[in-house]
Amino acid sequence: IDPNIKPETTTTEADIERALRPLSFSDFTGQEKILENLQVFVKAATNRGEPLDHVLLHGPPGLGKTTLSHIISNELNANIKTTSGPVLDKPSDLAGLLTNLKAGDVLFIDEIHRLNPVVEEYLYSAMEDYRIDIMLDTGPNARSVQIKLKPFTLIGATTRSGLLTSPLRARFGINLRLEYYDAELLTTIIQRSSAILNTPITKEAAFEIARRSRGTPRISNNLLRRTRDFAQVKGNGDISLDIAQISLKALEVDDNGLDEMDNRILITIIDKFGGGPVGLTTIATACAEEAETIEEVYEPFLIKEGFLKRTPRGREVTALAYRHFDLLPPNEQSRLF
Ligand code: ADP
Repeated sequence: IDPNIKPETTTTEADIERALRPLSFSDFTGQEKILENLQVFVKAATNRGEPLDHVLLHGPPGLGKTTLSHIISNELNANIKTTSGPVLDKPSDLAGLLTNLKAGDVLFIDEIHRLNPVVEEYLYSAMEDYRIDIMLDTGPNARSVQIKLKPFTLIGATTRSGLLTSPLRARFGINLRLEYYDAELLTTIIQRSSAILNTPITKEAAFEIARRSRGTPRISNNLLRRTRDFAQVKGNGDISLDIAQISLKALEVDDNGLDEMDNRILITIIDKFGGGPVGLTTIATACAEEAETIEEVYEPFLIKEGFLKRTPRGREVTALAYRHFDLLPPNEQSRLF
């Protein structure tokens, strides 16, 4: 290698994502109640010289579950190994990870509701007694060997805590639900991220992006990065309210912060199903989106914002959804005649 040629420094989106990730409790904005509790639990465990109890983090995607897991392991001065439910195919995959953990380490399993049931069974004794019983061979030679593990902390993250089996749920001593962020908190997060990205942004512009981020820091950061592109190409690099509005319009984020898919879901229910009630899978087919994604990503926000209702007979849009499209809700239409 020619020493005169400098290695190219390419910053990928993943690098930026990493740079924006808070590393300590004091760096993490919002989720106050959860942070307060976690700080106590971490301190108590550290003082006792014991591993932290197993932690279950649940809530919609992009609210900071992965970030918090890394922060917890930092604050515990522990190593973290990360994996996810669907990746752990066989018990031996899990055994491999567990036997490599040192005392006090953290194992993070994302999408823990998607664990293979066989693998999940192995997790029970690992969590409870720090041991796993592995079956060697099959048939007449089959025998089970017990492997002792170092005391560790499992952090599980899930967008669907309802899908967790009760034996698994029962083995988490700490169970925390992350909530959507309000616009003020997201404004703070956007200002912090802009500073890291060396991009000046006005308070009004940060607030505009914040209030149109579906209550989700990941979306705030994504919108900020795209708006930064607009600022560089269409302006002088600074993010003003004007630039933010131009960018959000180009990105099809509407004035209520609903994105293209949010709008498609609502208008489909109105146009094709008379406003509902209609079943989730029917909506999914009509919108060409996976039912699971609608249920995990879009629906919780639409419900929280009052555009959609869940009824025993299916999903139903509200009067607010009709007004969002400048349409009259059906009960008000009939009043006209
Ligand atoms: P999840 O695991 O819940 O899907 P992540 O932890 O991956 O969410 O967070 C998504 C992104 O949002 C991360 O890149 C992180 O930088 C940012 N983020 C999440 N929560 C916060 C927060 N409270 N403060 C600042 N940034 C946050």
